[in-house]
Amino acid sequence: MTAQKGKIGVTTENIFPVIKKFLYSDHEIFLRELVANAVDATQKLKALAGSGDFKGEFGDLTISIKADPKKNTLTVTDRGIGMTSEEVDKYINQIAFSGAGEFLEKYKDQANNIIGHFGLGFYSAFMVSKKVTIDTLSWQDGARPVRWECKGDPEFTMKEGERTDRGTEITLYLDDDSKEFSTEAEIERLLKKYCRFMPVAIAFGKEKEWKDGKYTDTDKDRIINDTDPLWNRQPSSLKDEDYMKFYRELYPMQEDPLFYIHLNVDYPFNLTGILYFPKIKDSLDVTKNKIQLYCNQVFVTDSVENIVPDFLTLLHGVIDSPDIPLNVSRSYLQSDSNVKKISTYITRKVADRLEDIFKNNRSEYEGKWDNLKLFIEYGMLSDEKFCERAMKFALLKNTDGKYFGYEDYRKAIEPAQTDKDKKVVYLYATDSVEQYAYIEAARDKGYDVLLMDCRLDAHFVSLLETKIADSRFVRVDSDSIDKLILKSDISEPVMSDIEKEDLSVMFESVLPEGNTYFVKPENLSETSSPILITQSEFIRRYRDMSALGGGMNFYGEMPMSYNISVNMEHPLIKKIMEAKNAAIGKECEDYAGKMAGIDSECEKIDASNKGKKEEEISSADKSRREELGKEKESLRSAHNGTVRDFARENILLHQVADLALLANNMLKGKALTDFIRRSIEVL
Ligand code: ADP
Repeated sequence: MTAQKGKIGVTTENIFPVIKKFLYSDHEIFLRELVANAVDATQKLKALAGSGDFKGEFGDLTISIKADPKKNTLTVTDRGIGMTSEEVDKYINQIAFSGAGEFLEKYKDQANNIIGHFGLGFYSAFMVSKKVTIDTLSWQDGARPVRWECKGDPEFTMKEGERTDRGTEITLYLDDDSKEFSTEAEIERLLKKYCRFMPVAIAFGKEKEWKDGKYTDTDKDRIINDTDPLWNRQPSSLKDEDYMKFYRELYPMQEDPLFYIHLNVDYPFNLTGILYFPKIKDSLDVTKNKIQLYCNQVFVTDSVENIVPDFLTLLHGVIDSPDIPLNVSRSYLQSDSNVKKISTYITRKVADRLEDIFKNNRSEYEGKWDNLKLFIEYGMLSDEKFCERAMKFALLKNTDGKYFGYEDYRKAIEPAQTDKDKKVVYLYATDSVEQYAYIEAARDKGYDVLLMDCRLDAHFVSLLETKIADSRFVRVDSDSIDKLILKSDISEPVMSDIEKEDLSVMFESVLPEGNTYFVKPENLSETSSPILITQSEFIRRYRDMSALGGGMNFYGEMPMSYNISVNMEHPLIKKIMEAKNAAIGKECEDYAGKMAGIDSECEKIDASNKGKKEEEISSADKSRREELGKEKESLRSAHNGTVRDFARENILLHQVADLALLANNMLKGKALTDFIRRSIEVL
C-alpha cells in the first residue's frame, strides 16, 4: 500500500478542539470506549466463526491493557477482527455527521451522550492524548497490516504497518496533563469502574505471588473482569449464596441485603439485572444511587434517577439493558416510552416479589419488616401504582411488637374502635416510652395502639387516611381517652361564661409561660385523669410535616399550643372548685354583681338609642358608654387578679397541673424541683 495522508472528514472545521474542550469533564470514559471497541471486535470475530466465514484459529482472545508511566503511554490490544486500510478509512477517517458544531454546543455538558450517539467513541482518546496510533491487521485472507497515526489535529497519516497478529492495538501518547492515565492505580480504578463485567477477558498486569518476603509478578496475566456476571445466568441455576456473594462483591462494605430480585425479560424490551433490598434502619441510613446501569455489560452510570422511580433508587444492584437510550439527555429519558415501560416493569416486579414473600414466607417477612418499612412507605408515598399494590403486603406494627396486614388489622380493631360516625379509629403512638401513659390507658380500654415511629410516618398517616375507607388516624395522646373514639355525644358541663373564664385563668396561672392553652371543661368519667394536656392531632401533624420540610412553615412557627381538658367530674377538680368557692366565692360574686350592674346600665343606654345612627347618639350617652366599658374592664382584671392569686396559692391545683405536665414530659428544671419539694410537703 502507498502511504496516505489526508484530512479526517468532519463537516466542522476541526473536531479536536471540540472534543477536548466540551468533553473534558467526563474524560475518563475514553478507556471504556476503547475497551468496548476491542470487545466488539472480538465478538464480531466469534460471530464470523459462528457463521462459518472465519475458519482460522482464535488463539488467545484476551484483551490486554498496558500502561507505561515512563513513556507516558497506554495501549489497548485486542485479537478481534482488525481493520483493512479501507475500513480504517471508512470507520476512522470519515467521521461524517451533519451539524456537529450545533449539536455539540447544545449538549456540551453531556460527553457521554454525544460520544455514544455519533460514534465518537474512538475519538474520545484525544481527550487525553497528544498522539494516537492504530496498528491493525484484519482477519481477512491476504490482509495487510495498517498503521494509522494522528497528532490531535485533522491531519493523519496511514501507511503499511508491521503488525503480524490479527487484531488491533491502539496506543495513546498521553497529554502532559493526563499523565495519571499511565499509572497502574488509575487504570485499575477505571477498569474496575467501567469494564468489570465486560464479556471478553481483559488482562491488566500480572498475578502477584508472595515470594522471598515480598509480592512479585508471576507470568500469569491478571484478568480484571468477570465475563459471565450473575445477572446473565439462569435464576434456576443459582442459589441464595450466589446472590449474596455477588452483593458482597458489588458492595464490599455493606451489610447483607434483605431480599433480592432477579430481573429477566426480553419482550417488549430487553432487560436483565439483579436488585437487592438493603437494610434501611432509618432515614439517615439512606444511600441513593447505588444501582449500576449497564448496556450489554458495559458500565454506563450509577445514577439511575429518571430511569427508575425515585423510591427504587433506594435499592442496590445492577440493571443491564440495551434498550435504554443513553445517547439522549436525561430529561428526555423520562418521556421515552421504553424507559417508562422499564420503570413500570421494575416497579411491578418489586411489588410481585414483596407480595410473594408476604404470602408465602410471612415470618421471614415480619422479621425483616423494620428494615424494609422505610422503603415501602416511601414507595407508597411517592408512587401511586406501587401504593395500590403495597396495600396488600405492607404491614402495621403495634406497640406490642405484633405485625398485621392492613385488612387483618382493620378486622381486629373494628369492633372496639368504631366511633359514632362509623369511622374506624386507628390509634397510634410515635414514641412508646414518652407516650407510655396514654398507650396504657388505651389498652385498658381494649384499644390497640400502632407504633408509627419513623420519620416519614407524619406524611404516611395522612396517606393511609385517604387510602383506607372510613378511617381516621389519631395519635393516642391527642385527646382524653374517653374522647379518642367517641361512641356517642357526651354532655357538656353546665357553667357560666365567667366560670369558664375563671377556669382558664386558674390553669394559665400554674402552667408554663410562653405557650397557648385552650382550657376546656369536660364531663369525663371519674376514673379519667383530672386534667389532660394534649396537642390537637391536626396542628401536631402539620407541625411534624413542616419540620420534615413539607412546606407548611406557618405551623412550624406558631407558639406551641395545647388543649387542657379539665375533668369537672373528677373529685380533685371538684375539691379545687370548692376551695375556690370558699376562698374567693364571695369576692367573685361581688365582682360579678357589679359587672352585671354595668351590663344592665349599658343595655338601657343601648335600648334608648336603638335604631339611631352613630351621629344621632348624644355625646353624653357616648361618653357614659365608654366609661362603663372601662369600669367593666378594670373590674374584670381585678376579678382575674383575685382568681390568679387564689390559683397560685392553691397547692392542689399546682399538683394536679404538674402531674399532667409530668405525664407529658413537660415538667423540667426549677418547675420539677418545685414539684418535688411541694409533694414532700403535702405528704
Ligand atoms: P462506534 O464504536 O460507536 O461505532 P467508534 O468511533 O468507537 O464508534 O468506532 C468506529 C468504528 O471503528 C467501529 O464501529 C469499528 O468498526 C471500528 N473500530 C474501532 N475500534 C476497533 C477495533 N479495536 N477493532 C476493529 N474495529 C474497530
